[in-house]
Amino acid sequence: MNIYVVGIGLIGGSMVLDFKTLYPEATVYGVDSNENHLNEALMLGVVDKTAPLEALANADVVIVSVPVDVCLTLLPKILDLVGEQTIVFDVGSTKSPICEAVANHPKRRNFIAAHPIAGTEFSGPSAAIKGLFEGKTNIICEVEKTTFKLQEKALEMFKAIGMRIRYMDPKSHDKHIAYVSHLSHISSFMLGKTVIEKEKHEQDIFDMAGSGFESTVRLAKSSPAMWTPIFKQNKVQVIETLEEYILNLTQFKELLVQDDYEAIFSEMQSVNKIKEILNGLKK
Ligand code: NAP
Repeated sequence: MNIYVVGIGLIGGSMVLDFKTLYPEATVYGVDSNENHLNEALMLGVVDKTAPLEALANADVVIVSVPVDVCLTLLPKILDLVGEQTIVFDVGSTKSPICEAVANHPKRRNFIAAHPIAGTEFSGPSAAIKGLFEGKTNIICEVEKTTFKLQEKALEMFKAIGMRIRYMDPKSHDKHIAYVSHLSHISSFMLGKTVIEKEKHEQDIFDMAGSGFESTVRLAKSSPAMWTPIFKQNKVQVIETLEEYILNLTQFKELLVQDDYEAIFSEMQSVNKIKEILNGLKK
């Protein structure tokens, strides 16, 4: 089996590390616009070989793991290049624009739209890790638009790396993901900004920052190159979530201004149920 990964960074790299263990007979080819990433991926053993985009004609499986803006233009070109029996899937964090970009492509049935809900704040092939997807959810959109045989092949590979499959339409995906992922990133970036602006001497922040700050601001280390196009593509949904979030922040501030500590206590107590919700997800 020839597996090609276009965009050999955190997500594509982590996926092929698992596929290499699961399918030892497979050859993994890396395609990337970043020469350094290609060399690094080879050196780290994330890929077996590097290849140009044109080589996709030989692919059995193509993983498209580039930023979502690049995906819109690259995905139709990839579908132009692949054979009739090739399965192509993306891993992009938005789904409506990506599904729309290939909606009328003659090889639409070779494509399956996926979003593995797994990741870290790091990027590039050196960030790729084995087992990243174990026990995580993979959101699949418009599955009915993919040829049944190729659907089966992709789903078998997703399940082999330990992923649970969840089906969703692209609009619902983009709406829900704005809350649980996109808003979390903005909130972390803006928390980081607020502290950096106030504490000009970074050493002071470092000395006083506890694990609470570190874990809350972790996502602020994420790549702007990856996140700017995500916010652009999901702008409407992200603005809606931001308005709700800003309202909650304003209301909390108002309770403090009014010295209403009973309300502050009960506000936090009611949000404590997040513990049970998250524990339930791990079961
Ligand atoms: P990443 O580590 O930055 O890897 C992306 C790779 O694609 C980089 O090597 C990048 O090179 C390369 N690239 C950019 N433009 C290209 C082009 N035109 N042709 C070929 N390669 C190109 O990013 P990632 O975190 O793996 O994210 C990849 C995809 O996964 C994104 O669509 C993202 O939305 C999705 N995703 C990310 C996460 C997460 O937590 N990070 C989780 C789930 C899904 P340069 O660095 O030089 O641009």
